[in-house]
Amino acid sequence: MKKVLISPAKYLQGNNELSNLGSYVRGFGYNALLVASTDDQERVQHHLDEANEKENFNLIYGGFNTECTKKEIERLRRMCAKDNCDVIIGLGGGKALDTAKAVGHFENKPVIVVPTIASTDAPCSGLAVIYTEHGEFEEYIFFKRNPDLVLVDTGIIAKAPSRFLVAGMGDALSTYFEARSCAKAYANNIPGGKSTLAALAIAKLCYETLLADSLKAKAACDNNVVTAALENIIEANILLSGLGFESSGLAAAHAIHNGLTVLEETHHYFHGEKVSFGVIVHLVLENAPSEELNKVLHYCQSLGLPVCLKDLGVTDVTTEKVMEIAKAACAEGETIYNMPFDVTVEDVYAAIITADELGGSI
Ligand SMILES: [Zn+2]
Repeated sequence: MKKVLISPAKYLQGNNELSNLGSYVRGFGYNALLVASTDDQERVQHHLDEANEKENFNLIYGGFNTECTKKEIERLRRMCAKDNCDVIIGLGGGKALDTAKAVGHFENKPVIVVPTIASTDAPCSGLAVIYTEHGEFEEYIFFKRNPDLVLVDTGIIAKAPSRFLVAGMGDALSTYFEARSCAKAYANNIPGGKSTLAALAIAKLCYETLLADSLKAKAACDNNVVTAALENIIEANILLSGLGFESSGLAAAHAIHNGLTVLEETHHYFHGEKVSFGVIVHLVLENAPSEELNKVLHYCQSLGLPVCLKDLGVTDVTTEKVMEIAKAACAEGETIYNMPFDVTVEDVYAAIITADELGGSI
């Protein structure tokens, strides 16, 4: 049996670590192209200035046009070539990071990823989600390798609104359950092999860390301070969930997320918030023990993560709408078919209705 695990070459996390950026850039060269929106760049400008004072390097401000599109990747690739960049730095949320990863891949340059929020498990992965100019999903691009360095400054993440951190917990919550289902089904993970014992252990540790430290971490983030619990949750959201999902695989929870995106009402909610309800549906679909389901429902409720459709803006729940979600979740090629049993649109419809009832009544 072919097993495969992929990961970034290096993961580094600490308070005020961005001010050491220069020494990491110098490990790859001198000219660094920064892919970051003006807002994100301004938020951390003093760290960038400090980094340059500590260790001299040439930071070329490439900007970022809010969406990871082919056109934006092309623009930054031209900049990279013109300015002889030695390394690409992606800084900000998932889309800027994905764009930087794509530029590094096509220009064959090393990539440093600096997440400024911990809202998804995208930073460590070796793939990017490409959107059209109008912001619609276009395709996934899979890279030859994962980022060379993931540099996480916990002080910067603590100063971002805690809704991002909580959404990241919702995304990370799915990791263990999807990994477990994929392992039972002997389904392939993202790099096309079976899960290793290591990836499964990481996914389990991700869930245990969330249960132990989420509330404490949210309280720290609400007050913009770094505590040990917040550090653990940042690691769970970014590293454990990142390695777990990529090397163990996705299943029903993320397919339900994709299904939910067909309803306009859900568009204002973050990825991890929709995944959170996806986890409830996933557990209902596989008929997980009541004790486990209740634990997850109460976990989500304690953090304000969505547990029913109303929590995602769907106030008028109709048969048609739920059927639309179920059909989209069961589209050809969806990860729902990684569940260890046959899944039909009717099964998914029933699981959504039931999850909505259970979540709505706690
Ligand atoms: Zn996700």
